[in-house]
Amino acid sequence: MSEPSPLAPALAQRLDLAQEMKRRGVRLTRQRAAVLAAIQQATRHLDAESLWRLVRARDATVNLATVYRTLGMLKKMGLVDELDLMHLEGEKHFYEVSRSQSHLHLACFECGKIEEYQTEQFLKLQAEVESVCGFTVKTGRLEFGGVCRTCRK
Ligand SMILES: [Zn+2]
Ligand SMILES: [Zn+2]
Repeated sequence: MSEPSPLAPALAQRLDLAQEMKRRGVRLTRQRAAVLAAIQQATRHLDAESLWRLVRARDATVNLATVYRTLGMLKKMGLVDELDLMHLEGEKHFYEVSRSQSHLHLACFECGKIEEYQTEQFLKLQAEVESVCGFTVKTGRLEFGGVCRTCRK
């Protein structure tokens, strides 16, 4: 019996980093542009070193410090989110391009898989916080740790 998965990566909603840079009038060095392109096209949540490996395939002159500096800049601009994903891999942090809509991360303690889930409930919670607390939410993160569908079998 297979049920349709409610999990959707919703890649279409990722912000376009190059376009955002242009819109904000930020000029990029060739190296930083390579970091941007790599994270834009990443298909999973990457830590800085994994991202660095992808970047070096595009431009071998990029060093890890440049990757960290570029991630720091993108984070400050609200274009990239930094996640610890339930510390599944210890102190490692992961990065992903911000979305137009917040999503949940489901971290499997058995296999380490990270799934994403989007729900209207998250937006409702965000709206509730804004009205009750008088707080403007810029970004939201919610993580559940547990056992995934595959590992449960
Ligand atoms: Zn699992
Ligand atoms: Zn995610």
